[in-house]
Amino acid sequence: MNNILVINCGSSSLKYQLINMDNEEVVAKGLVERIGIDGSKLTHKVPGKDDYVIENPMKDHSDAANAMFSALTDNTHGVIKSLDDISAIGHRVLHGGIKLTESTLVDNHVKDVIRECFDLGPLHNPANLMGIEACEKNAPGKKNVVVFDTTFGMGMEEKAYLYAIPYEYYEKYSIRRYGFHGTSHMFVSRETIKFGNLKPDAKVIVCHLGNGASISASVGGKCVDTSMGLTPLEGLVMGTRSGDVDPAVLQYICNKEKIDINEMLNILNKKSGLLGLSGISSDCRDVELAYEKGDAGAKRAMEVMKYRIGKYIGAYMVALGGCDAIAFTAGIGENDISIREAICNNLSFLGVKIDKERNNVRGKMQLISTDDSKIKVFLIPTNEELMIARETLRLAK
Ligand code: ADP
Repeated sequence: MNNILVINCGSSSLKYQLINMDNEEVVAKGLVERIGIDGSKLTHKVPGKDDYVIENPMKDHSDAANAMFSALTDNTHGVIKSLDDISAIGHRVLHGGIKLTESTLVDNHVKDVIRECFDLGPLHNPANLMGIEACEKNAPGKKNVVVFDTTFGMGMEEKAYLYAIPYEYYEKYSIRRYGFHGTSHMFVSRETIKFGNLKPDAKVIVCHLGNGASISASVGGKCVDTSMGLTPLEGLVMGTRSGDVDPAVLQYICNKEKIDINEMLNILNKKSGLLGLSGISSDCRDVELAYEKGDAGAKRAMEVMKYRIGKYIGAYMVALGGCDAIAFTAGIGENDISIREAICNNLSFLGVKIDKERNNVRGKMQLISTDDSKIKVFLIPTNEELMIARETLRLAK
């Protein structure tokens, strides 16, 4: 057996997938919720079987990992006999800073660097490290691999990653564009080349449009530019995040509303984007529904969002000096037929032609442009877990 366990930890959650790398199929997956709070619960899913739910107090990530390993090896609901049937464990980690630029096997140095990056990823890195330590404790001797959301963006050149602020801030604090959703951009850009049978150094623009949204430009799967920055706030209009704003807006609103910068950042992260503009919802489906019914707020929110995506695609075509393919992925990119059509129609002057019939698809790998479109357009479902599993397999061999 050639199983890789993929772990994605949040502050009170642990998501896992066991993937058989011989056929890249999911053997089992699950979620532990409410770690450290009342009502801890593990839901274990095996394809074709009923969910197995355990409700037990789990005070920390180690208890959660213990419950996960028990479920995986359970006599009735399990899928493996013992932990020997897991070849290695891959962990999603948000931020590797400038010191960890590639996926790597975990050792003490790696853990120290993840710790050093706590202030760059305060919501994620501490939880990610807890997940690693929980696996080390509950599955001793197993190889652990970390795959960073920032790795893809580390491929950028200085001209793309530097902000035009005093250089000393880069030197002192490593302030730069890192980019996020890196695992998704890496996976989708590579899959686009493979699926589309494109040349190995194809120029691809990936639109990862989910609750969080980002866009990347890459050559042969190597990042040239990407829209998220030091944090996942920059770039596109998202569910609740503003994306790009003039930084001076922050000071102006702080002064007028008598709020501090922390509160302002909270507004930009949690009360802006589709939610802020529409006043309706952060969920694209809700906003679109309201738009169809003629709601003015929903219309403005959708228009700003689509316009921003188009503007970035245009900029990235220049960054790449051309474009062979555009790929749509994540919740909105994979499911929203009308947004894909609208974005492509705005690119028609470049020879992009969407095929209405091919585009009438959800969540499936497919060419959605016409045969005579100058730039190929694809729907490529993202699969970050599989990308992490592939990296883990490569490094743990
Ligand atoms: P994240 O992983 O960033 O939380 P997802 O990739 O799951 O987000 O995407 C969530 C977004 O996808 C939501 O805005 C949701 O409305 C949108 N979405 C999901 N299904 C559809 C659909 N059928 N049509 C339009 N939007 C959809």
